[in-house]
Amino acid sequence: MLLPTLLVLPFLASSRCSTPAEDDVRLIVLVSIDQMTPEQLERLGPRFSGGFARFLGGERHRLAFHDHADSSTGPGHATLGTGLWPSHSGIVGNLWADRAQGDAGIYCVADPSVAPLGPLGPGAVGPAGRSPALLLGDGLADHLKRASPGSRSVGIAGKDRAAILATGHAADWALWWDASGGQGFVSSTYYGDALPDWVASFDEAWWNRLPDAGWETLEASRDPRLGASADVRAGEAPRTFPHALPLAVPREPGASNELGKQQRAQLSRWVYGSPWIDLFSIELAERALDALDLGRDESVDYLFLGLSGCDIVGHSYGPRSLEVTDLLLRDDAALGELFDAIDARVGAEHWIAALSSDHGVLPLPESLDSRGYDAVRLAPNEMQLGSSRLGELLESTYGTNFVTGVTESGILLDREAMEREGIGLEELATFAREGSADWMPRLRTLFTQNDLAPREGSAPTGGLARLAAHSFLDTRSPDLVVVLEPWTLVGFPYGTSHGTPWPYDRHVPLLFLGPGSTPGEDWRPCATVDLVPSLLERAGCPIPDGLDGSPLH
Ligand SMILES: [Zn+2]
Repeated sequence: MLLPTLLVLPFLASSRCSTPAEDDVRLIVLVSIDQMTPEQLERLGPRFSGGFARFLGGERHRLAFHDHADSSTGPGHATLGTGLWPSHSGIVGNLWADRAQGDAGIYCVADPSVAPLGPLGPGAVGPAGRSPALLLGDGLADHLKRASPGSRSVGIAGKDRAAILATGHAADWALWWDASGGQGFVSSTYYGDALPDWVASFDEAWWNRLPDAGWETLEASRDPRLGASADVRAGEAPRTFPHALPLAVPREPGASNELGKQQRAQLSRWVYGSPWIDLFSIELAERALDALDLGRDESVDYLFLGLSGCDIVGHSYGPRSLEVTDLLLRDDAALGELFDAIDARVGAEHWIAALSSDHGVLPLPESLDSRGYDAVRLAPNEMQLGSSRLGELLESTYGTNFVTGVTESGILLDREAMEREGIGLEELATFAREGSADWMPRLRTLFTQNDLAPREGSAPTGGLARLAAHSFLDTRSPDLVVVLEPWTLVGFPYGTSHGTPWPYDRHVPLLFLGPGSTPGEDWRPCATVDLVPSLLERAGCPIPDGLDGSPLH
């Protein structure tokens, strides 16, 4: 009997997760705090006592960066969940232009072949169907299903693109908050025909969980030493604590169930811009533990938890605002309770966790300016204005306006017209670069397909071009990829944003907990594509070929 066993073992080791043992990992938990910066962990570290405190006592990679240029939520979560650059995951932006469909804006998780799924059934909620159809690579859920029979995966997040892209094609469920319709957590018929009971029961009169007083600061957040004590600073959204509910929630028994559609929608939008988007997500994750029996057998399960509140609140108030500070302290406490629950149900030795973020953020330009940075807030629609000005310049020089549109990362051109009139892409790009003062303030450079598309032996090996190449897919990327100077904000009349290749948008937390991690600080540079192979290795699962990262040790 010994010989056949020995012969079979190498096969098992190469295609399956490690065989059951006392200390086997049975659950992987990935927590992504949308728009979290390492500075926030640094500044608030001493005040954390819950989930973030646990991570800070774990394996902490201080120099972790997203290794791609378009630092936004879709690409970031796809990278966290697949170990692939956007050029390989296909998720090159939150939105991109599709040439075949007349440059129409394509949302990164759009799928017209499926229907939205809410507590009232298919089609009753949300604007359109969602799925990972546009994700070109496999995600953690896919690798685990292949390597660990019976594996279950669930993604829970405030945002659909986070829950869907950070899990993969084979997730059992991706669930996200219905911010516009007020149905609670919703999904898509891609995952099933009816919302599971544990979600539908959460959605029942979810507004009863909101406090009458709305969002007030915790006492701890008011500590002036946290550097966030002034409630309104230059550049912030002009709203102050307490952030009241938009309407009084009726509390008499039965009455709250009669909230109208309009009222539910108003309250759900309020939740989306408050810590409750995160607190609700964490509560649902705890329900998922029991409902899906996560981590209770020998298969390796996967829970993705995307806390979107930091981003939504951060866009309005900035990363050092009182609002974001208060939200992160609340996230910390709630995550601590979730982790205690996982310990109790799964056993501390049977689960591993990672903390990271889909992108960083630019501090408020006004606060940078006050410290001497050359920071500027351009008109929110400066990209559109700039591309129109470029079109006019082209028209006056070449007789034709070749600009057909603008995306979040660049400019679309009428390539057929250019060919007809004998204007090459490089010639046009040179014209646009050299004349940038006349159409786009603070333009650092433009890249074309020739600069970024992989050609044998000539992929860009460094600098901005390498980062832009990792965000480039010829069928989904614009003709001219636009890079503005650092410390430049477009798109927001107040608050701030992200999306650039500059370090403040790409530097993110990357921390590990549990078996296989080495507590302490690690200052070796690493990238977010290293996350998936690291988690697979620590869970005893094989690392598939073709990933863009390597396991961190
Ligand atoms: Zn954002």
